[in-house]
Amino acid sequence: MGDAAPDFLRIAGLSKTYDGARAVDTVSLEIGAGEFVALVGASGSGKSTLLKCVNRLVEPDEGSVQIDGQDTAGLPPAESRRRIGYVFQGIGLFPHLTVAQNIALPSRLESNALSADRIAELLALVELEPEMAQRMPSELSGGQRQRVGVARALSSESHLLLMDEPFGALDPLTRGELGKRVRRLHDQLHLTTVLVTHDMAEALLLATRVLVMDSGRIVADETPAALLSGAGGEVAQALVDVPRAQAEALSGIAR
Ligand code: ADP
Ligand code: MG
Repeated sequence: MGDAAPDFLRIAGLSKTYDGARAVDTVSLEIGAGEFVALVGASGSGKSTLLKCVNRLVEPDEGSVQIDGQDTAGLPPAESRRRIGYVFQGIGLFPHLTVAQNIALPSRLESNALSADRIAELLALVELEPEMAQRMPSELSGGQRQRVGVARALSSESHLLLMDEPFGALDPLTRGELGKRVRRLHDQLHLTTVLVTHDMAEALLLATRVLVMDSGRIVADETPAALLSGAGGEVAQALVDVPRAQAEALSGIAR
């Protein structure tokens, strides 16, 4: 990595065991400011646990996490969550709260009210009309709901955005469009982003760096181009083979 900008997120020797099973196994990792990293792996490989250890929704057994040079162990959980935008796997919006209330919730938990203007600004970032603020989640499409989730994650003005399979439940078209939107937001707001996905095609298309997780360990750390030219080892290549085979099958039909 040489003399590039100092690492924004630094994970050292991180482990988490559940009932004797190692969900995260001595992971060490540095991510520079501005990187867009995809974390890919099979279900159960430890992706969510690793992400939750970063914002201390889960307390690791061993190891440390530093954000911008500061150890998160020393920070109150609320403070480390303020520094980190987080889009949860499978957890949508609170159904009994409006869009605006959902977006404002993390800030309210820190007794910091968001103005209507700020909420409109956050909605605009994810390309939703300001009028959406007063809607209930049940009055939105799946894609719109996920965009509100992203807006909520950005509400704390943190520069670290962690997303755990944010597009999992969406149709492929909405998924592709929202992926590109998030990538533009990443560039525009100078974020450092970690996107957890089990979809290697999504990782290759959106990220500047792809980490592959297997049984709690990072087994590959490559650029999309390197992965596509065969780097990263067996587990990584098995994941790359999925979209590759699909692309070949499609070009076969087109011919
Ligand atoms: P992924 O996000 O890659 O699907 P997870 O981090 O959710 O993987 O899970 C990794 C492993 O840890 C799995 O074997 C899972 O069953 C286990 N695990 C995750 N969360 C818990 C928990 N709260 N209690 C017990 N085991 C857990
Ligand atoms: Mg998960």
